[in-house]
Amino acid sequence: MYQYLVANHLHLCYPSLCMNNTSKNQINIDTILKDNGLKVTPARLSILNIFTKSKFPLNAFSVYSELSKDKKNKNINEATVYRTLSSLEKNDILKIVNLRKDSVYFELNNDHHHHIVCTICGTVEDFKENISIEKILSKIIEKSTKFKKIKEHSLELFGICKVCN
Ligand SMILES: [Zn+2]
Ligand SMILES: [Zn+2]
Repeated sequence: MYQYLVANHLHLCYPSLCMNNTSKNQINIDTILKDNGLKVTPARLSILNIFTKSKFPLNAFSVYSELSKDKKNKNINEATVYRTLSSLEKNDILKIVNLRKDSVYFELNNDHHHHIVCTICGTVEDFKENISIEKILSKIIEKSTKFKKIKEHSLELFGICKVCN
């Protein structure tokens, strides 16, 4: 994981375009960390704060450049960012989103939704499924000879956005 992220850390992103100021639902970061048995550290707090404000999944490079905008984060180096993302992911606080881009993207693991990704410009839009996905899943499991239960799913759609069309 670490090497993979380092190898891709030059991936271009424009985090200022990805941020919105109103956090979706006021998330108590301290509580999330403590509930997961993780120590509250400045790096974890700052990084999770960035994720609560971001409308889109973020890679390590965009997290690092967002951190760099605030002097209070000057002690958080790139290696710390990679390590922190990895440990937050292992503890299910962040999840990896497969956007078929050349670096790993993460988002908060607190809200079940899916993504549509533009294969030309990379624009990402969230969407929530309606009930019919659950119906499809139960049909799939009915017909499955090897599986009894579906515990989770991820669904990313790839297309062309209205700007690129
Ligand atoms: Zn779903
Ligand atoms: Zn596009």
